[in-house]
Amino acid sequence: MKKLTVALILTSLLFGNACAKSIVKKDSNPDIEKLNRVLAGMSQKCKDAIPNGDAEEFLADLYKVLDSEKECSSSDLSPFYLIDKKHYVGADYVPKGLIHLEKNPYYEINKNNLSLRPEAFAALEKLGQAAKNDGVTLTVSSTYRSYEYQKNLFQYWVSVDGLEEAERESAREGTSQHQLGMALDFAPVDDAFDKTPGGQWVYKHAAEYGWSLSFPQGYEDVTGFRWECWHFRYIGVEACRFQKKWFSDVQQFMIEFLNSWKSNN
Ligand SMILES: [Zn+2]
Repeated sequence: MKKLTVALILTSLLFGNACAKSIVKKDSNPDIEKLNRVLAGMSQKCKDAIPNGDAEEFLADLYKVLDSEKECSSSDLSPFYLIDKKHYVGADYVPKGLIHLEKNPYYEINKNNLSLRPEAFAALEKLGQAAKNDGVTLTVSSTYRSYEYQKNLFQYWVSVDGLEEAERESAREGTSQHQLGMALDFAPVDDAFDKTPGGQWVYKHAAEYGWSLSFPQGYEDVTGFRWECWHFRYIGVEACRFQKKWFSDVQQFMIEFLNSWKSNN
């Protein structure tokens, strides 16, 4: 009997369902027990976002995601590194081998100081090329930002909008995905991007090239940031699939889960 749902596993853990316990024992898959532990520690909102499904299928998908991590440099931070209002990187963290974005046939740039980690740089070229093939030109407006730059940017938004509004849209230094060199903003950097041909195209296709919308609509209490239709993070194609299939397409839930999975033994 292998048809366990994630919800059922949780039930077996939380309520001591004897039947499910014996199934787990017969299967003797230690990763199912680990999955129990990790899921039990996730927030209720995250648990609610996970659909019923086959636990072994979930694990098979998870292994593919963990395997895909090897496509990114092992001498730098994981593409699934958890960074948010509670998880920081230091002032001295700079991604390795940042590549400067030059004028190119695939996408437009509207600044000359843009750069990305090599993995994200290559994935952006593929994304831009695919958009071009569909008659859409994407414009990149912001990419890697240093700790210092982010510090000044946050202060700038505080001076313009006040602290409360700035906290909803701009990250404090050390907490921005931009410092990882794996995130970018498309232009225009405002809600109008949503209705542009570029916006419409990336919502449909970004995941096919490993790019994930970081701050979706309706999840400010989860991500800490209001909807940012222009901001995408490169996490790879497998992780984008995993996020969509098992985490209601919410990057924060998936990355929190991966972080717990890796730190749980
Ligand atoms: Zn951004």
